[in-house]
Amino acid sequence: MEKNSKVYIAGHNGMVGSAIHRKLTAEGFENIIVKSSKELDLRNQQLVEDFFRTEKPDYVFLAAAKVGGIYANNTYRADFLYENLAIQNNVIHQSYKNDVKKLLFLGSSCIYPKMAPQPLKESYLLTGLLEPSNEPYAIAKIAGIKMAEAYRAQYGCNYISVMPTNLYGYNDNYHPENSHVLPALIRKFHEATINNTPKVAVWGSGKPMREFLFADDLADACYFLMQNYHSSDLVNIGTGLDITIADLAQKIAHVTGFKGEIEFDTTQLDGTPRKLLDVSKLHDLGWKHKISLNEGLALAYEDFKSKYC
Ligand code: GDP
Repeated sequence: MEKNSKVYIAGHNGMVGSAIHRKLTAEGFENIIVKSSKELDLRNQQLVEDFFRTEKPDYVFLAAAKVGGIYANNTYRADFLYENLAIQNNVIHQSYKNDVKKLLFLGSSCIYPKMAPQPLKESYLLTGLLEPSNEPYAIAKIAGIKMAEAYRAQYGCNYISVMPTNLYGYNDNYHPENSHVLPALIRKFHEATINNTPKVAVWGSGKPMREFLFADDLADACYFLMQNYHSSDLVNIGTGLDITIADLAQKIAHVTGFKGEIEFDTTQLDGTPRKLLDVSKLHDLGWKHKISLNEGLALAYEDFKSKYC
């Protein structure tokens, strides 16, 4: 990508898209195209076709997706499958039709089998059954990976797919039910502290382990790979470090100043026991994360307070 290239960021209002936007702006890109979901419904084939024909972007970051935490994924199963398939189908196909030079597709660590050995290597894709709670989302993302791969194989398109671990950061979704664990717990512990509530209920047993990456680090890695990586083989993006949900809850209690009791609501799902990414390929390519979980939690809590308090 040259600094004057026309770069389309699909999903620029979301946590990942906005981080990519910040990164490209900081790198001096001046010709970035963005459209809100109101201006351009990416699920609509005709609108996406018209948009690509008019704008003719050189490069595409496909960061638009319907995303959510364990409850949302398990509840809105049809929406997660349909909307993600529609968005990626339209954007990838129109990128091909309009000679986009390179596209980056964002997958997810939930594409790997539930019981795969840890840490998860890129080669474990499609070697076993998926975690049921987010199977529809994972199937859509696997279809996106395979689409990028197939367009490269059949048409020679330079499309790459990256698999980020669990993300958090600026512009996160803090919805009490539909969000991911980290923003949900920031909100729950903050509200309990403000309201002097003696207990906070953390879903599940607290035993599952998760890896967390700050979205600005992800954006940095995506930019790095867009510049330096040209293969349909997946690349995991994470820190290579994970933590139990119980320990995460302790950290968030500390950041928010919560002094009460933490309980575990075992009527709620645990989801996959562990999904730690093997990031050796990314490290070998020359990229490593910069923002630690402790630093990122403090930044995320400031962002939450600036928006909701
Ligand atoms: P997952 O990584 O796809 O399972 O998605 P989540 O980030 O939603 O959940 C990760 C883990 O955190 C699961 O074991 C949840 O049960 C647990 N968890 C604990 N409290 C919460 C909460 O308040 N919200 C969410 N979304 N998950 C929670």
